[in-house]
Amino acid sequence: MEWQVTVGMEIHAELRTKTKMFCNSKNDPDEKHQNVNVCPVCMGHPGTLPVINEEAVKSVQRAGLALGGEVQKFSRFDRKNYFYPDLPKGYQISQYKYPLVLGGVLNGVRITRAHLEEDAGKLMHDPNGKFSLVDFNRAGVPLMELVTEPDIKSAKEAKKFAEELQLVLQYLGASEANMEKGEMRCEANISVSKTSEKGVKVEVKNLNSFRAVERAIEYEVRRQIELLESGKKVIQETRGWDENKEITFSQRSKESAHDYRYFPEPDLPPMEFSDEYIEKLRATIPELPEQKRKRFTEEYGISADLVETLVSERSLAAFWEKVISELRDWMGEENPKKFLEAMKLAANYFTSDFLGLIKEKEISPDELLMSPENFAELIKMIYKKEITSRVAKDVLRVMVERGCDPSTIIESKGLKQVGDEVALLEIAKKIISENQKAVEDYKKGKQQSLQFLMGQVMRETKGASNPDKIKELLAKILG
Ligand code: MN
Repeated sequence: MEWQVTVGMEIHAELRTKTKMFCNSKNDPDEKHQNVNVCPVCMGHPGTLPVINEEAVKSVQRAGLALGGEVQKFSRFDRKNYFYPDLPKGYQISQYKYPLVLGGVLNGVRITRAHLEEDAGKLMHDPNGKFSLVDFNRAGVPLMELVTEPDIKSAKEAKKFAEELQLVLQYLGASEANMEKGEMRCEANISVSKTSEKGVKVEVKNLNSFRAVERAIEYEVRRQIELLESGKKVIQETRGWDENKEITFSQRSKESAHDYRYFPEPDLPPMEFSDEYIEKLRATIPELPEQKRKRFTEEYGISADLVETLVSERSLAAFWEKVISELRDWMGEENPKKFLEAMKLAANYFTSDFLGLIKEKEISPDELLMSPENFAELIKMIYKKEITSRVAKDVLRVMVERGCDPSTIIESKGLKQVGDEVALLEIAKKIISENQKAVEDYKKGKQQSLQFLMGQVMRETKGASNPDKIKELLAKILG
């Protein structure tokens, strides 16, 4: 029998609100100076009182609705008591018994619950182990915690789940969920077993990148299987992930809920939500990644790769849709076949040229200089065979670099490109046929005649081409 892998995830995401969870200190994940976004409330001074951030509550509820979960009509905060130097109050305001959301599903993985809590500060340890410093800017930042059922069967699935959740949170505007910045942090509960019996769960913490999620689960599965196959036992514990060594390591035996002495937070009122409120909130849910995937595939008939690129970069998707709507306006509804052809052309240039260019130039899709209207214009010119694909590629490069419209670029390029062999040859031939006398003189050995012909070509090209090149070309034609 094969080993069966069972993984459940616990994901924390910092919410993008203006202020913190229970006070009006700024919530700014990009703040570089330590301990500036703090106040007596988030520092846990005695006598202060927390106030619930409404936006944060809505964010978690909207996330719940987006995942098909059920927003609870009654919810409240609980105190989770533990000591740690990054936790100023000595307890975390969290939710235990009555979370904001129950249920839901994402990528076929059932969601157990989603609740709201506050983040802790950030500890920085002296490399020599002599002291630690703490930055409280993050203390009290609203944090959504989402827990899944143990429905995940592999490391890859776990990574995919986390990636999809990140996209959903971004679409909702609830969180940037940037893992590198610590805005989204994952933990995985991993067990392996052969029979229908459950394996022993090991929790792996500190998974701060999608790669870490995948690698840590792969490692942990291997470790547990090796233990069991050599007749040893897996102990229930919490392990950390060492990013550099790529191993998990034992941190502590797993604590249970009763260790935290949860009780209802006495400083905050319980919350009640009406059906009307919930339906109003539901109406604010935008098109979600999976819906966009479906629609883009059906509407545009583009490759799965391009669909994925567009779904994961909202600004690129918006750009694409504008290009297509321009092309549709241009083609009108009466010629669907032509419109499809133009769309296919657009998809080709988008994928093989445009995406490559912005990657090469490290341009963020949010900072594009080129407008979708101008890109559509270029596609029209290619479609109407006004320019060759060679020229189109050059023009597109300039458009991406400078953002001007294609006809302006082609006009200004038109002059410069007279230096181009083909165009020059044409002009040279024309000058030769118009100046037979000078040609004869040259053939008789009069070098000045060549100078004269050169001058004529120069004048025709408005002085844009290289004299040496012209001389060479004329001499070649005249033998
Ligand atoms: Mn938590």
